[in-house]
Order: sequence, then structure tokens, then C-alpha cells
Amino acid sequence: MKHLAAVNKYLWRYKTRLFLGILFILFSNYFRILAPQVSGYVIDRVTQVINLQNGNTKAVPHAHNVSYDLLVQKLIREVEGREISFGNMIILSGITLLVLALLGGFFMFLMRQTIIVMSRHIEFDQKNDIYKHYQKLDVSFYKVHSTGDLMNRIAEDVSRVRMYTGPALMYVINLTSTIAFCVFFMWRANEKLTLYVLAPLPILAIAIYSVNTMIHKKSTAIQGLLSDLTTTAQESYSGIRVIKSFVQEKAMLRFFDTNSEKYKQSAISLAKLEAVYFPTMALLIGISTLLTIAIGGWYHSTETVRIAAGLQKSYTVTAGTITEFVVYVNLLTFPFSAIGWTASMIQRAAASQKRLNEFLDTKPNIVDQAPRQADTLNGDIVFDNVTFTYDHTGITAIKNFSLTIKEGEKILVIGKTGSGKSTLAQLLLRFYNPNDGGITINGQALATINLHQLREQVSYVPQDVFLFSDTVANNISFGLPAKAPQEVIESAAKFASVHKEILGFEKQYETMIGERGVTLSGGQKQRIAIARGLIKNPEIVVFDDCLSAVDAKTENEIVTNLYQYLQQKTAIIITHRIFSTFRFDKIVVLDEGRILEQGTHDELMQKEGYYAELYRLQLTANSDDDVVMAMVVED
Ligand code: ADP
Ligand code: MG
Repeated sequence: MKHLAAVNKYLWRYKTRLFLGILFILFSNYFRILAPQVSGYVIDRVTQVINLQNGNTKAVPHAHNVSYDLLVQKLIREVEGREISFGNMIILSGITLLVLALLGGFFMFLMRQTIIVMSRHIEFDQKNDIYKHYQKLDVSFYKVHSTGDLMNRIAEDVSRVRMYTGPALMYVINLTSTIAFCVFFMWRANEKLTLYVLAPLPILAIAIYSVNTMIHKKSTAIQGLLSDLTTTAQESYSGIRVIKSFVQEKAMLRFFDTNSEKYKQSAISLAKLEAVYFPTMALLIGISTLLTIAIGGWYHSTETVRIAAGLQKSYTVTAGTITEFVVYVNLLTFPFSAIGWTASMIQRAAASQKRLNEFLDTKPNIVDQAPRQADTLNGDIVFDNVTFTYDHTGITAIKNFSLTIKEGEKILVIGKTGSGKSTLAQLLLRFYNPNDGGITINGQALATINLHQLREQVSYVPQDVFLFSDTVANNISFGLPAKAPQEVIESAAKFASVHKEILGFEKQYETMIGERGVTLSGGQKQRIAIARGLIKNPEIVVFDDCLSAVDAKTENEIVTNLYQYLQQKTAIIITHRIFSTFRFDKIVVLDEGRILEQGTHDELMQKEGYYAELYRLQLTANSDDDVVMAMVVED
């Protein structure tokens, strides 16, 4: 329960709605509770009239009137004072019952309007808060938590918590007030009868609670099976080409079949349980009604004997009382059965809120404390003896790395996969803090630079390209505060050598990307991502292996375009291939997080090391490509 305390701040935010909601619940229950009293009165009058007609003048004074609510008593006095005829009295009572039902219903409507609406507001606020928190957390958080888990928390868990702030809260207030009202009036009518009649209800509550827990367990299991089934289905749609080419349709079908069989079995078992559940509930309710009539009747006959013997003046239990009690018991069975599932609803909400709290309490390691500054960052970058280990895997990706980059220099970082190239780029963007050593830009330590400013002013094109399901134009202008003019977008696309291809799409720059749009080739995606990086027009550019899916000819075109674009800028270009057409100020060869060799192209060629070997290898591989050759010779 203590976990749910985190929701209190939201309840407090909507306190007026909550207060009104409680008030409406009380009103609604009050009006509902008056109805049985009116019916009780009418029944007593009817028995009286029948008795009179039968010549039994002594029979049934409606003595238990005193137990009625003041409002009902007033109504009765009004009716009796005016000597309204029997028939009219019945009609009037009917109208009163109708009005009471309408009033009860009206307030119930208002209660839902306030409390359920409040819970939707809270759900909205909570989702926004969680989303805001997600955006604040570091990249490393996302490496540890799966997307499914994150989605679950923001969707499932929040909606379970809503069941607490909405329905559960409403039912708790509703139950307590209904039970309080009913028991109060029953007790006033006859204390002993009340005890007898109420005795079976707790058993009902416990029975319902335990069956409910069973149903919940089963349905959770079913949910799990269903999500397995969906995943299997989804994989077989997206992997259809692999399945077909490996002729595995039958095997997949069998696999799917087994999973659906399991799902079917559990669903049937749940249906069986539910098939027992509702009739049993109806039976229990029926039994309490019967008990009320039986015990009430027995009471009435004992009282008749006592009255005849002169031991008692008037009845406390009349036909009217029994009717009233039967209605009370029926009013009570719902609250009592609801205790069970309200309790399990609150339990589930508490478990969900616990999971939400766990994650809302996660603090980002990288915090943005520094204020923004007026100067833009130019390109003086210094890595000073940087060492970095990934927390959760313990892999030391960068070891004692030192490098000085001057403004306007173009640096090539090259190395095998896993040598730490991408890590280097991410350290510069401050996705992670180094464990040792430091990085400075313009002589300022990275940690003292405003984080947003750093990321705005360093253009980073990551290795794994991600484009949003949006238009090409919107994807390119993503990093800008407002949508850029068409010319600006086009010029970025031209620098990235993707403009011509975009013009080839049906809707050109307004073409949708992603599942419901065009399917782009890996190279096209990479170039759109480059355009997105270039449009920011930053001083510092970091390209992480973003030409890997581009063929040699296009690569050459891009590199030539980029060369122009990058002239005034500082650029770090990460690759596992050599761009022979590009004149780099410095080439750094990384190996297992360390610098293996560094220098200019000529220096490294003379050294006859890794770079020289790679260069020769690539040259032979590309030798059939005239264009590249020509450029290389020129170089
Ligand atoms: P490269 O870009 O040169 O291929 P990376 O910088 O991606 O190399 O990786 C360097 C090393 O760090 C590798 O051993 C890799 O397994 C590890 N590594 C990379 N990213 C992560 C990560 N997010 N969490 C843990 N280890 C990582
Ligand atoms: Mg990489």
C-alpha cells in the first residue's frame, strides 16, 4: 500500500473533483437507501387494508415507522395527514420510488463524471511525467531495459494505477457508505434480525475474493500466452522471406499450432471457472434473500405470540420490514462482492506503482547543470588520457586515449569492429562520462558545457540509422526547432547526395518513410540521416560509419560533396573503410580502445602498418572502379 502514496500528489491536484465525487457518492447512496423504506411502508399499508377488509381490526399497526429516515417519515406524515385515498397513496408511493431512483441515478452519473474523469486526468499526468522522465534518462538506461518493459510501464502499469484512482477509490467510498447506510437503518429496525441477515455476507465476500484471485491468475497467464502468440505471428510475418526460402512453413505452422493450443486450453479453463462463478454468486445472493424472508417470518410469528400474550405492544418486524430487509440485502450483496475485487484491484495497482516508482527513482548519471553560454563551440577538441568502461558489461572500450584536434581539422578514425570507435563518438556527445581522464572542447571540460548546447552544436550521425515514421522532409529537419524552408532541406539533401533519389519518389520530399511508406535501402537511410545531421550546420561534425551501406561510386560522390561542406568545419569521420579521396589532417587507427598508429596518410603509408595494409587491400578490391582509382591517383 505504501507504494501508492506516490499517487497522493495527483489526488491532491484534483482535490475538488475528488471531494465532489465523494459528496455525490453519498447523495446517490442516500437516495437509493430511501427506496426500500417507502416500499416497506407501502407493504405494511397494504397488509393493514387487507386485514381490515377481512374484519381483522387489531392487526398490524406499522410500528416500525420510527426506524425510517426523517425524510421518509415526513413524507408519510404528509400522506397520512391529508387522508389521501388508498389508491392515490399507492400511486404517490410509486412516483416517490421513481423520483428516488432518478435522483440516485443522477448522482451516480455525477459521481462517475467526477471520479472517473479525475482518474483519466491523473492517468494523463502520470503518463506525461513518466515520458518526461524517460527523455531525461541516459542512453545507458536504455541498454539495460528492454523496449517492451518500458512500454509496459507507461501503458499497462499506468492503467492499473488508474484502476486505483478511479474505480477502486470510487467503489471503496461507495461500499463503505452503502454498508454504513444499510446497516444503520437495519439496526434501527431490528438489531437481532440485522445480525442474522448479515452473517452470511462476509462468507460471500471471502468466497468472491478467492475465486477472483484465481480468475486473475488464470487471466494473467492467458495474457502471457497471448503475447507469445502475437510475437510468434509477428515474427513469421516479418521473417516470411527467410521462412519461405528455408522451406520452414510447416515447422512454423506446427510451432504456432502448439502455442495456440496452449492458449486455447487456458482460455477454456478460465471460461469454465467463470461459468461457475456467476451462477454461484447468484445462488449465494438468492440464499441470503431466502434467509432474510425465513428469519424475518420466524421473528414475525414469535412477535405475534408475544403480542397475544401481552408481552409486547407492537411489531418490530412486519411484512414491510421483511420487504425492506430483502431490498437492503440485495443492495448489500453488490458491495460485499465488490470488496473482493476492489481489494485485488488495489493490490495490483500497488504492485504496478511499485514498478513505476522504481523507475521514477532512477536518476540520470548525466545531468545538465551548466548554464547555456553565448559562444558557439568551435572545434578545438582534446581527449586527455580517456578511459571508459561500460558499466553493465564491464567491457573497457577506450583505454588511455589521448588526441588533440584543432579547429577545422578533419580526422579519420579507423579500426576493426569492436575497437571502440563508436564509443569514442558517444563520449564526445556525452552519452557517457569517461571513468578516467577528460575531454575538453574550447578548453572547457565537457561536464561544464550545457548538455543541450553541446548536442545542438555537435552534429552526430550515428552508426545505426534511425528514421521516424514521418515524411522525408520532416526527418531531415528533425534537429531544427521549426520546420526548415524547402531550399534548406534540399541543400542538405544535395550535400548528402540523396536529393536526386528523393525526387524520384512519388511524393518527393513529402513521401512517408517507414512501415506505411516507402521502404528505403540501407544506403538511402544513411544518406537521409547524414542530411539530417548536416542541416543543423554545426561547427563540429561526427560521422559514425555512416557510409557503410553505400556503394563505392555513391560514396565517392558523397565524399566529394562532403569535402566542400566540411571545409570550414571540424570533422571526425569514423569508418572501417578508407576514403581515399579525402585529405585528412590526421588518421587515427584504433585497436581494442588504444591508438595503434596515427599520422597523415603519407606518414602512415611509410610506416607500413595496419593502415598501409588496409589501403592496399582496398585498392585492389576497388581497382575495377575507375572513378575511385582516378581520385586515388590524384591524391
Ligand atoms: P566499434 O564502433 O569500433 O565497432 P564500439 O565502440 O561499438 O566499437 O565497441 C567497443 C567495445 O565496447 C566492444 O567490445 C563492444 O562490445 C563494447 N560495447 C559497445 N557498446 C556497448 C554498450 N552499449 N554496452 C556495453 N558494451 C558495449
Ligand atoms: Mg561502431
